[in-house]
Amino acid sequence: MKENIKIESLNIYFKTKAGNVKAVDNVSLELEKGKVIGLIGETGSGKSVLGLSILRLLAGNAVVSGSIIYKDIDILNLNKTNIVGIRGKEIALVPQNPGTALNPIIKVGKQIAEGIILHEKAKRKEAKTKTLAIIKRLMMDSSISKAYPFELSGGMKQRVLAAIGISSDPTWLIADEPTKGLDAIVRNQVYKTFNKIKKRKDTGILLITHDLILAEKLCDKIAVMYAGDILEFGLSKEVLENPKHPYTKGLVNSQPHMNLKPMKGLSPSLINLPKGCKFHPRCGYAMKKCFLEKPLLYKTPSGSKVRCFLFDKTRKYYKDI
Ligand code: SF4
Repeated sequence: MKENIKIESLNIYFKTKAGNVKAVDNVSLELEKGKVIGLIGETGSGKSVLGLSILRLLAGNAVVSGSIIYKDIDILNLNKTNIVGIRGKEIALVPQNPGTALNPIIKVGKQIAEGIILHEKAKRKEAKTKTLAIIKRLMMDSSISKAYPFELSGGMKQRVLAAIGISSDPTWLIADEPTKGLDAIVRNQVYKTFNKIKKRKDTGILLITHDLILAEKLCDKIAVMYAGDILEFGLSKEVLENPKHPYTKGLVNSQPHMNLKPMKGLSPSLINLPKGCKFHPRCGYAMKKCFLEKPLLYKTPSGSKVRCFLFDKTRKYYKDI
């Protein structure tokens, strides 16, 4: 489908004085229109960098190669004018940190309406009507349109950012850590907001999150990222309820609602990445081959893909882990 986002051989590194920071390593992934795809992984795994690259919002020291195809166009080749035409209108961002993402001196309703006026060339009155409809659709009280951001709770600000994101009826929403720093009750409200967006099925969501409960409830498919690589990809239920990669297992088991068992070791430096499988310094199943060669993404009998030699086609190294 033309409105799918097809990421092919995407490589991103940042030039720094300390060396090149390799944030995304040869990632290929297709995001299907109307679906919710979760990107999960520890801090520094490359999730947000990958999400922001789709909107061409990376810092100036980023070096990007590969392609991101949307509607038969490579987003990475668009000039500034053309990317502005897509950003916000067709692919919108719900940024991290609602505390700083909203303008503190402009009322919330006006901030939602601005996108409608800009992208749909709507008259102010028309934009106001649509703003109130969006607020209602996302189950917020219409009175919040007259509030300033400082008058709202963290969760409400996050929901306002979601409202701004969908204000121009985008085909895609990239939501970057929408429940970060929120308590369980507010996280549930944010979940309900995104579930409302999901139910319309006309907007696909790339959900970048640490919150595995949110990911499990919302996502159709999940990609697990580690040190710039995708280590596991498959149906949400399969990845989270029957994780296969040793890293995904560790991530799931470290969750407070699971065993709260911390994973051994730390993520590697993105400047000096381990050779072979990047997870080998932390992996209890590492064998000689893992220190020397990088595993491919192997298809498992259940249909998910796992970057681990234990799942290679020959099943030569298979262990019931
Ligand atoms: S390839 Fe080797 S080191 Fe990497 S996750 Fe699999 S068993 Fe562990």
